Amino acid sequence: MNFVVLTLFKDMVENIMNTSIMGRAMEKGLINLDVIDIREYACNKHNRVDDYPYGGGAGMVMQAEPVFKACEAARTKFISNDEQLTHDDREKQEDTDTASVNNDNAVRFIGKNQPGVKLIYLSPTGRTFNQEVARELAKEENLIFLCGHYEGIDERVLEMEVDDYISLGDFVLTGGELPAACIMDAVSRLVPGVLNNDESASDESFEGNTLEYPQYTRPEEFMGKRVPDVLLSGHHANIARWRREQSLLRTMERRPDLMSRVELDKKDVEFVNRKNRENK
Ligand code: SAM
Repeated sequence: MNFVVLTLFKDMVENIMNTSIMGRAMEKGLINLDVIDIREYACNKHNRVDDYPYGGGAGMVMQAEPVFKACEAARTKFISNDEQLTHDDREKQEDTDTASVNNDNAVRFIGKNQPGVKLIYLSPTGRTFNQEVARELAKEENLIFLCGHYEGIDERVLEMEVDDYISLGDFVLTGGELPAACIMDAVSRLVPGVLNNDESASDESFEGNTLEYPQYTRPEEFMGKRVPDVLLSGHHANIARWRREQSLLRTMERRPDLMSRVELDKKDVEFVNRKNRENK
């Protein structure tokens, strides 16, 4: 799995990604991370990449040209020599009047819909990230994350380069670095070999739309609170049933919105009905 992050704050992304499970996955070569500093593509001697918004209003907007060049640099990494020829020959006539580079009538670039590559702009205006989206992204080979700052990025370059818009949730952060890191973390855990025990990803919250059951470890008793007896019984079928019921119970209590999407067998239905009756 190859990740490229386009950012104004390289250290922030590298520091997060170089630690713990992600760091190990990179050492093992299961994940490759390349972080590109958008400022390296600034087109003025002061290395500025932002400017005032047309039409007025608060804040600054990241300019199209440095972002465009950074996106193209990232896309070029995933182009084979054969493809390079095809792309060089391809002219994107429909975007010429919005492209700010060169001001030629015909501007050549790779742009969105590049085969085998998905460029994601982290934005509060995007679709909301969740485990289902993580599973979808884990099927991709090459993901490029574009992190905005200030008030965001000039719309024209987004139209030319962005394949997908993803939000971390209905709140506004300062930049796209934390959302990019969260998404890379969630996606990496689904890459075979990244977790020591591949099973642990399949038994977790949101697999099958339920939340995970409670977990316990030694000692058997802590400040008078004992581990549930069933977990000490060694009876695998009973443990599995207990975990399933705890998982259903927790989902009913904490995320009732998920319940309509949970596949229930006969025993589950009996359990859910009983709990609903008890709560009336
Ligand atoms: N003016 C923008 C708006 O109202 O939609 C918010 C810009 S925000 C201050 C700066 C950058 O942070 C965005 O360009 C985006 O990359 C990132 N960002 C902020 N909140 C986010 C969220 N909930 N999900 C993903 N990215 C976010």
